[in-house]
Amino acid sequence: MKYISTRGKAPALDFEDVLLAGLAADGGLYVPETLPTFSREDIAAMSGLGYADLAHRIIAPFVAGSISEDVLRAILHDTYAQFRHGAVAPMVQIGANQWVLELFHGPTLAFKDFALQLLGRLLDYVLKREHRKVVILGATSGDTGSAAIEGCRHCDNIDIFILHPHNRVSEVQRRQMTTVSGDNIHNLAIQGNFDDCQSMVKASFGNRTFLPDGRGLVAVNSINWARIMAQIVYYFHAALSLGGPVRPVAFSVPTGNFGDIFAGYLASRMGLPVERLIIATNRNDVLHRVMTQSAYGRQPLAQTLSPSMDITVSSNFERLLFDLYGRDGAVIDDLMRRFDEGKIHFSETAMTRARALFSSHSVNDESTCGQIATTWRESEYLLDPHRALGVNAALHSGIPVTIPVISLATAHPAKFPQAIAQAGLEGVARLPPHLADLFERTERLQVLSNDLAGVQAFIAANINA
Ligand SMILES: *Cc1c(COP(=O)(O)O)cnc(C)c1O
Repeated sequence: MKYISTRGKAPALDFEDVLLAGLAADGGLYVPETLPTFSREDIAAMSGLGYADLAHRIIAPFVAGSISEDVLRAILHDTYAQFRHGAVAPMVQIGANQWVLELFHGPTLAFKDFALQLLGRLLDYVLKREHRKVVILGATSGDTGSAAIEGCRHCDNIDIFILHPHNRVSEVQRRQMTTVSGDNIHNLAIQGNFDDCQSMVKASFGNRTFLPDGRGLVAVNSINWARIMAQIVYYFHAALSLGGPVRPVAFSVPTGNFGDIFAGYLASRMGLPVERLIIATNRNDVLHRVMTQSAYGRQPLAQTLSPSMDITVSSNFERLLFDLYGRDGAVIDDLMRRFDEGKIHFSETAMTRARALFSSHSVNDESTCGQIATTWRESEYLLDPHRALGVNAALHSGIPVTIPVISLATAHPAKFPQAIAQAGLEGVARLPPHLADLFERTERLQVLSNDLAGVQAFIAANINA
């Protein structure tokens, strides 16, 4: 399988090189040159497969030529054995034709484990095979950091440096990162905000001379294709459990960087009957404005009760745009250049294509809490604030009652006690047993000032792998 850049100029790469790359050299994102497709019969034959075996069917074509089928199978079985529910991604019914797909049974209680547990193992395998060592560098406002650390902690050829804004992530989220021990794990608390952290990561990818000779730099945010690829699987898994491919289903996805829902779009393009993909946003509603006004523009960041979706730009939307504009890299290159300078408008042809599959809904904090309280009252089921947006958007979607709507449960409610308390349910959310002593564990972190040269010097001096 070959991968090409959305901006059309960077060379096509194999899977293993895309895994190790961040952005393409032309500033674009990598996407498969051609998407594998499955017939209705192929998909029907997947029903009844366990999660890891299903993942193998879906993922094998994407890594063909880079990773053998047997190695892939072993890696996938090991990856999904880390999840604490026998179904890996269980479905729960919370109302007439309303379902929740629980994606928080992995080590860090967020859906990012689905991709980052796999990414860590794939990197480990490829780096060992090629006798290479890399540095992973990422910025986090919460869930990505802990999932990346858990996914890569056992990799001998990786040092992982995660930047988070000092005193600006929740205590549960911070402790999930800082209590993981290992000489190759480095938590840097930056005296600044999340944007400062992200700017330093971006600048470091742009100029890597601070690293020792030959040391690669790998991205773990959802611009990394391998993360998207892993997430396609659970769309198939969920649809199959409700009668797919015969019966179409809809998905409601709490969206930040457009990574998770883009995986749903790919599932649909690969042949899975998907009636609708609902983009659920919080007040940071850049994607809702795209869908309703065809305009793409930044607005100031708002802090909400669903912090993992607090973003001003959705990087992965570029991957969808590439398809909406007939896979013309020159057009995307031009659009993105203009977007760097300000607001842009998309053509009606492109937006008509988008609206054939996607709809959107923006939910404020008050409605989020209202939804958590209502669902608890009606079904004794506790939503976290991210999934509450999805459930709320699903109820506003106008999808016919004959079609099941599946809301993606991206995190465990105990990660967000503040929102649960604000919904009037203080104390209802409990951390699961494997994290029950989280608040007693020893933390390790380094507080650094908001200074790129200082941070880069720290990284260079602390590489252990
Ligand atoms: C990361 C995250 C999201 C947003 O996912 P995207 O792929 O960026 O759209 C939603 N909910 C939770 C809990 C997350 O951690």
